[in-house]
Amino acid sequence: MFRVLVLIFLVCFSACAISKQPHMNHFSPAKNIVVAHRGAWKKNNLPENSIASLRNAIALNCAGSEFDVRMTADDSLVINHDPNYNHLPIEKSTYANLAKLPLSNGEKFPTLQQYLQAGMTKNTATKFVCEIKPSDISVDRARIVATKVLALVRSMKAENRITYISFDFEILKQIIAIDPTAITQYLDGNKSPDEIKAAGISGIDYHFSVFKAHPDWIALAKKNNLILNAWTVNDLETMNWLLSNQFDFITTNEPELLFNRIKQNAN
Ligand code: MG
Repeated sequence: MFRVLVLIFLVCFSACAISKQPHMNHFSPAKNIVVAHRGAWKKNNLPENSIASLRNAIALNCAGSEFDVRMTADDSLVINHDPNYNHLPIEKSTYANLAKLPLSNGEKFPTLQQYLQAGMTKNTATKFVCEIKPSDISVDRARIVATKVLALVRSMKAENRITYISFDFEILKQIIAIDPTAITQYLDGNKSPDEIKAAGISGIDYHFSVFKAHPDWIALAKKNNLILNAWTVNDLETMNWLLSNQFDFITTNEPELLFNRIKQNAN
């Protein structure tokens, strides 16, 4: 009789342990959390930060599509990750000179205005995740870039469609000073959630390794009602870890992979 009871106990205990595993390791979020990094470019071999990659992120129904903003010597706001475009330093070149060469898909070197215009067409779900790059010339110039970006966004009535991200703390402070309702996330992992909250920034968008090194920051960010985002997550193991920790957003070069993982978890 005792053996039978022990056996029943062991079977029940194992069943409970197994049934609890999916909740611990395979969380499926209630809302869309997928942010395409520089648009959804990789699977279809599109250029990063192209309008085509933005359109593809919209077609995939991503929660957000990230892109990088810089300013030319003649004050044009343009979309490019690196400080150089075709070996020309963007901050020291005119837009006309930069735009002589198209992107690899034949697209014209996009301005922010063209990029936002394209992204506001047939798009109800995908937010702009606008990274304003620090200036190599001066912090003052970076503040000017931020001011110009906000003016353009306001003139296009795109305020509700945009989240601002930056490695430059001064850029985020400038955005908040102009528009205290703007949604902002800090990218450099060198400030605690308490410091971010005190600065009035809406969230943290840190490299996932920062959260691995400071796992307590996850709970601290939630306690401070900060948006919790991690970049750039391209492998399933890290995706699962962030999903199980219920991140608000995951930024990835593999949006299709992340969507599939979330769908599998839901089933
Ligand atoms: Mg970026």
